[in-house]
Amino acid sequence: MAQACPGARISPWQPSQPGVTVDPIWGPYVRVLTAHATDAEIRHTASSGGALSGLALHLLHSGQVSRVLHVGMDPDAPLLTRIVRSIGRPDVVRAAGSRYAPASPLADLQAELATPGKILFIGKPCDVGALRQMMAADPSVAARFPFLLSFFCAGTPSQDGTDRIIRHLGAEPADVSSFRYRGDGWPGYATATLANGETKRMSYAASWGDILSHEVQFRCKICPDAVGGVADVAAADAWYGGDSGYPAFEEADGRSLVITRTATGDALLREAEAAGAIASDPLDIGEIIKMQPSQARRKQLAASRMAAMRVMLNPVPVVSGLAVGEAMRQVSLLASLKSMVGTVRRIATGRR
Ligand SMILES: Cc1cc2nc3c(=O)[nH]c(=O)nc-3n(C[C@H](O)[C@H](O)[C@H](O)COP(=O)(O)OP(=O)(O)OC[C@H]3O[C@@H](n4cnc5c(N)ncnc54)[C@H](O)[C@@H]3O)c2cc1C
Ligand code: SF4
Repeated sequence: MAQACPGARISPWQPSQPGVTVDPIWGPYVRVLTAHATDAEIRHTASSGGALSGLALHLLHSGQVSRVLHVGMDPDAPLLTRIVRSIGRPDVVRAAGSRYAPASPLADLQAELATPGKILFIGKPCDVGALRQMMAADPSVAARFPFLLSFFCAGTPSQDGTDRIIRHLGAEPADVSSFRYRGDGWPGYATATLANGETKRMSYAASWGDILSHEVQFRCKICPDAVGGVADVAAADAWYGGDSGYPAFEEADGRSLVITRTATGDALLREAEAAGAIASDPLDIGEIIKMQPSQARRKQLAASRMAAMRVMLNPVPVVSGLAVGEAMRQVSLLASLKSMVGTVRRIATGRR
């Protein structure tokens, strides 16, 4: 995972451009929508509505990029995630869907730059942040990446989390010949295919809620841009709210929340819609909190968690330009204090 090192500078949001509004929680935006890929296979295979894969396919088909740099299942070690370079629809379909485990899409960047052609990059917000900083430092890198796409990110679970899913399914990691965390529906199922052809699956609520979310590293708990504000376009699950006020995770046709964040990203989405690759409906920014309540909470508490790190003499990342203080002011002082004390306690006891 890029930028995991405390003390590092986290990439700030892009300098404000005409037509871009900045929300302290949801980041910069031109338009907020719900959307899905019109390619039915992509919509079904992808994580939510296939918006990211749909945009990737549009950019490949229109010749604006020669390839997509992203990640997917390693066919030689199906529980691991490897870098994928997609040049056509079959590759994009194979790489669609989330990999809730460590993944380093920029690990081979030098080799990537040595191969000619424009590249679409899709990655976690911290991956895109790292690339943005390289692009700002080196115009020759910037010239190669005309579009950066990202997604809302609840954090990277350890690889152990994946093995725990397999064991909960009554199998051993060595027996798995193929593994998806979700997709094939929305949200779909964590699905393991075994070498003997048997298929075992677990609901998203169980795989993420009961296992993977407990395996997320501390760095992600203080992430100041987990909504991909640094990208040109960020996508997320446009969950429907449940009775409890939290997302219901019931199976439905895939639907992505899409936020265009720069003029470049907004023009890309308009073009993909005009070409018939993406279908969308406008959404009021006030609706996002119903779909993504945990993301709002994490941003609001990031400053208090980092204050706890300072108290405990831990190095803290530089987060200016990401509205962390403004987000904190949306919650009560008591909530911030409780979060700070809880984090101090976790650091002191080593329970990060
Ligand atoms: C670790 C993680 C945490 C997430 N947390 C949230 C969350 O809190 N809220 C939320 O709404 N959505 C979250 N998502 C994103 C969500 O699962 C979908 O990616 C998002 O809804 C967009 O869906 P899509 O159908 O448009 O994407 P797709 O069309 O399925 O495309 C997904 C793209 O993401 C890339 N990708 C998959 N896994 C990784 C990875 N580990 N690192 C880098 N790139 C990857 C794929 O290569 C593919 O290009 C998370 C995803 C990941 C990987
Ligand atoms: S939560 Fe933030 S730091 Fe963690 S993987 Fe996601 S983008 Fe990276």
